[in-house]
Amino acid sequence: MYDYLIVGAGLYGSTFAYEATKRGKKVLVIDKRNHVGGNIYCENIEGINVHKYGAHIFHTSDKEVWDYVNDIVEFNRYTNQPIANFNGEIYNLPFNMNTFNKLWGVITPEEAKLKIEEQKKQAGIEIPKNLEEQAISLVGTDIYEKLIKGYTEKQWGRSATELPAFIIRRLPVRFSYDNNYFNDLYQGIPIGGYNKIIEKMLEKCDVRLGVDFFEHKDELEKKAEKILFTGMIDEFYDYKFGVLEYRSLKFETEILNEENYQGNAVVNYTDRDTPYTRIIEHKHFEYGTQNKTVITKEYPADWKIGDEPYYPINNDRNDEMFAKYKELAVREDKYIFGGRLADYKYYDMHNVIRAALDKVKEAM
Ligand SMILES: Cc1cc2nc3c(=O)[nH]c(=O)nc-3n(C[C@H](O)[C@H](O)[C@H](O)COP(=O)(O)OP(=O)(O)OC[C@H]3O[C@@H](n4cnc5c(N)ncnc54)[C@H](O)[C@@H]3O)c2cc1C
Repeated sequence: MYDYLIVGAGLYGSTFAYEATKRGKKVLVIDKRNHVGGNIYCENIEGINVHKYGAHIFHTSDKEVWDYVNDIVEFNRYTNQPIANFNGEIYNLPFNMNTFNKLWGVITPEEAKLKIEEQKKQAGIEIPKNLEEQAISLVGTDIYEKLIKGYTEKQWGRSATELPAFIIRRLPVRFSYDNNYFNDLYQGIPIGGYNKIIEKMLEKCDVRLGVDFFEHKDELEKKAEKILFTGMIDEFYDYKFGVLEYRSLKFETEILNEENYQGNAVVNYTDRDTPYTRIIEHKHFEYGTQNKTVITKEYPADWKIGDEPYYPINNDRNDEMFAKYKELAVREDKYIFGGRLADYKYYDMHNVIRAALDKVKEAM
């Protein structure tokens, strides 16, 4: 008999497991995948840590969470400075003085602000009716056309004039030459990859892989006093209120016989015709010096049950449906729910750790 059965060996389940074992609890962790780590799992290819479920950069301003992960593994000094490739023209992201200089030849923040204001005024949009109008009213036509339109249309699989304005509430515009994508105080990649964090967290647990909870529910329920479920909440309740929707991704990974393919970890393709949204060159996350390199092309994809659920679509329909599932979940005695799939929420890694630590305080 275990004190806790944890369904899902992702970062949420692993943080909870780590804290439980620190408190002397007996823990069994299961995952339907054949590896631990959930979406932060890295696969070693040619000595390079390949972020198998999408590029992951740890960034936070939460000092307690930063200290917490640094106690487990050392982080490098990686700073995310993505670039955009629009039909062969290269721009810095987020939109900053380097972007504005390349676009318009402006040099001072004052000149850049005037240019944006001029374009906003020319567009003459008072109440934006769709995403296109919203974006133009925030940053003007040039940035919209070259850096937002194609990328967003690929991401959502729809034309920007058919997408609702609320998807873009604000756009990061920075009137300095700082290329750092994040505003957080701390940022980096674990030296040796993310698997090191998870391995340490699960060190004192029993772990069973390739086990789908729903296929062995009756037997597994008898194994533990309490169960933490970090899978999809609608699946848990057999979709009785309907299916919560997601956007998915498809990844195409290649090993290349060259040392350095694109000179940066993240390059976004912002034109409409290139079918993928980004190319990730994994070695640059860890300053790799291997002779070869590994790149991954990322394609946005529609989602249906059975596909990997990546981004929750938090519109009114789905949020109302989630609220109904949540109402059932809070009344459960034996079950605790948490993580991005049970909370139907996009969480960054630091949010996941914070949420799991808070849940542990509540539970133990
Ligand atoms: C493309 C992408 C890029 C991202 N980049 C960043 C980034 O740069 N920085 C950042 O901070 N965050 C990033 N994130 C967010 C990060 O991935 C999440 O915060 C984190 O992985 C969530 O952990 P989790 O444990 O909640 O979920 P998951 O990692 O999804 O873990 C849930 C686990 O439960 C298992 N499971 C589900 N159902 C069952 C079942 N029935 N039986 C058994 N096991 C089951 C799954 O197999 C999975 O392993 C990104 C997310 C995406 C989608």
